[in-house]
Amino acid sequence: MRDDIERILIDEAVIEKRLDAIAKEIERDFPEGPMLVIILLKGALVFAADLLRRVPRPLEIECLNVASYHGGMESSGKVNFLDRHFPDIRGRHVLLLDDILDTGRTLHAVSNRLLEEGALAVHTAVLLAKEKERAEEVQADYVGFEIGDEFVVGYGLDYKGRYRNLPYVGVLKPPSD
Ligand code: 5GP
Ligand code: MG
Repeated sequence: MRDDIERILIDEAVIEKRLDAIAKEIERDFPEGPMLVIILLKGALVFAADLLRRVPRPLEIECLNVASYHGGMESSGKVNFLDRHFPDIRGRHVLLLDDILDTGRTLHAVSNRLLEEGALAVHTAVLLAKEKERAEEVQADYVGFEIGDEFVVGYGLDYKGRYRNLPYVGVLKPPSD
C-alpha cells in the first residue's frame, strides 16, 4: 500500500496530537449529560474510534450509511440515506462525525435530517476540510486539518474501497498506465 502513496500529508503522530486537542474542546463545549455520537460510515470509522476514546464521558454511538452522487452520475448533488431504520434521536444533543468536508452536501443534508428527526442540537466534527468553495453553506464545528483541494486516502478514507487502514493521510500516485 505504501508504494501507491506519492506523499504523506499528515502523519500518525500529528493526527494523534490534534485528536487530543479536539477531544478536549468537545469535552469542554458539550452540555452535561450523555452525548449521542453519529458516525457516517465508512469513512469516519477510524477517526471516530480514535477520537471517542479520548472523550471521557458517557456517550452512545449510532452509525449512518449515506451515499452521495457527485458530478451528476445519477442524481447530481443528492445525498441518499441508505439505512432502513433511522435511530431515535429526539431531544438529543448529537455529535456528527464525518471524515472529510468537501462540497459540503453530505454534512448539510445529514445535519438537516437530524434536526428534522427531532435532534435538539447538532454539532459536527470532521477530520479534514478541503479549502474550496462549497456547494452548500456549511461549516464543521470541529476540524482536524484544513487541506488543499486534492484527493486523499488513508485514516478511514478510501479509493475504490482500499487504503482505509493506512495510519496516515496521503495522496495517491497517479495511475501508471
Ligand atoms: P461532500 O458531500 O462534502 O462533497 O463529500 C463528503 C464525502 O465525499 C466524504 O464523506 C468522502 O466519502 C468523500 N470524499 C470527498 N473528498 C474526498 C477525498 O479527497 N478522498 C476520499 N477518499 N473521499 C473523499
Ligand atoms: Mg464517505
